[in-house]
Amino acid sequence: MGLGSFFKRNKDNKKEETVESHIDINNDDCKGADCEKCVIACPNNVLIKEGDDTVARSPMTCKHCRVCEAICPNECIVVN
Ligand code: SF4
Ligand code: SF4
Repeated sequence: MGLGSFFKRNKDNKKEETVESHIDINNDDCKGADCEKCVIACPNNVLIKEGDDTVARSPMTCKHCRVCEAICPNECIVVN
């Protein structure tokens, strides 16, 4: 299950629904503030740092290129 989730406004009935992120980030193994490789490498600006954690700010804009998976030195990221 993805660690990140966010609310998306439904265009039809204006109700909010929870959308699970398909980007799993293991922040226990993330190097935190000392590393921003995935944030810098993502061509779609999906990832951001929040303190020492890395989070998927906008998973719906992810193009599944898996650059973040490849560049992470600690294999913290899995894109499903
Ligand atoms: S798979 Fe690609 S687009 Fe998606 S978060 Fe990773 S680097 Fe960004
Ligand atoms: S590349 Fe890996 S270790 Fe570096 S900030 Fe991203 S998730 Fe953390």
